[in-house]
Amino acid sequence: MKLALHWKILIGMLLGLVFGSIMLQFSWGKDFTVDWIKPLGTIFVKLLKLIAIPLILASLIKGISDLKDISKFKNIGLKTIMVYIVTTVIAISIGLIIVNLIQPGNGISDETISKLTETYANDEGVQGKISEAANQKEQGPLQFFEDMIPDNVFTALSNNTLMLQVIFFAIFLGIAMLLIGEEKAEPMKKFFDSLNDIVLMMVDLIMLSAPFAVFSLLANVVVTSGDPDLLIALVKYVGVVVLGLLLMVTFYMVLVGTIAKKNPFWFLKQISPAQLLAFSTSSSAATLPVTMERVEEHIGVDKEVSSFVLPVGATINMDGTSLYQAVAAVFIAQALGFDLTFADQLTIVLTALLASIGSAAVPGAGMVMLVIVLESIGFPADKLAIGLALIFAVDRPLDMCRTVVNVTGDATVSTIIAKWEGLLHGRNLQEDRSLEEIRNQ
Ligand code: ASP
Repeated sequence: MKLALHWKILIGMLLGLVFGSIMLQFSWGKDFTVDWIKPLGTIFVKLLKLIAIPLILASLIKGISDLKDISKFKNIGLKTIMVYIVTTVIAISIGLIIVNLIQPGNGISDETISKLTETYANDEGVQGKISEAANQKEQGPLQFFEDMIPDNVFTALSNNTLMLQVIFFAIFLGIAMLLIGEEKAEPMKKFFDSLNDIVLMMVDLIMLSAPFAVFSLLANVVVTSGDPDLLIALVKYVGVVVLGLLLMVTFYMVLVGTIAKKNPFWFLKQISPAQLLAFSTSSSAATLPVTMERVEEHIGVDKEVSSFVLPVGATINMDGTSLYQAVAAVFIAQALGFDLTFADQLTIVLTALLASIGSAAVPGAGMVMLVIVLESIGFPADKLAIGLALIFAVDRPLDMCRTVVNVTGDATVSTIIAKWEGLLHGRNLQEDRSLEEIRNQ
């Protein structure tokens, strides 16, 4: 029997969890897993990152040069940014509402706080996040736009963290191609069309190893995770974040059902391989090639929409991250007895929104920006390390969950924008392809 890809990935993940737990029982288990199992997952993530830039370039240039006129692009661009902002504000509000209602920080005993502080406050991880945040904060308000413009296209193409620069260059090139007219642009268009198909095939090839790669990634997460007792102490906080994330996914499904008029369960099934990879890799940037492939070929969103909406979303739209920042900031304040006024909560909405735009789409980035959110509400600088220490033990599992929401949000927004623009195809291309194959037999 041929299993669907998402089942294979899920089985790989479960086996990875079981294997990791077994390895923890042996004194040599952790080293064995890190030395012999982890590299497979690392190679897989590197392969996905390897094709991210060529894919964004080819698909965005193709998408834009396929448009009949530039005003359509302006339309899609404006709507995308608007919807991204609205969904992020909704995510933060959901986070704030539930963390204020459930108050997970109030039940934390002093003993737990001091144990967590002892374990993590001086940890490299926590200190690293604080100093990274200090670097980010140095920047002026328009730095974001300045950083978006590359001064050398090859530098931009050679650095995965400069995704927005690549997007800018591709849009610029695509628009110029539209302007010189179809005939003159034809050779370039053919080149990028072909490159695009080739890279999508590379995604398919890489995905063949996905079930094994997730096994490796999850086994590694298990052997490197912290003290299980601390995880239990934070169970209420974890519960609130996960509840918020689930509510957010429910909200997306309502949008898919009502605006895009697609069956939410069908949608989830189509997008699930990307979600499972987001969970396993904790990186929306690494997942991007798969998200693009699923959304275009399985959900039926036209490239004219997805090629812009998804790469931009991966870098600036992080609903899961912003929801998490809201919950984490209030949780830390509750646990350390730092009173928050209504104005403070509004400040959280604004800074978490900006922070999620500025967060990199890589593991752990959300926690760096959390420092900035905390500082914006006047959280004492000397207590920052203690605050972060409180949530550090569970950051990795929560990162995995919030990345799923980040990716699902991007896919949902691209689907509704496509619907609005009349670019959501009734039947998915994958089905069309197999129909054609049957016909040709
Ligand atoms: N890991 C997240 C992502 O890549 C960002 C974060 O919340 O840390 O989407």
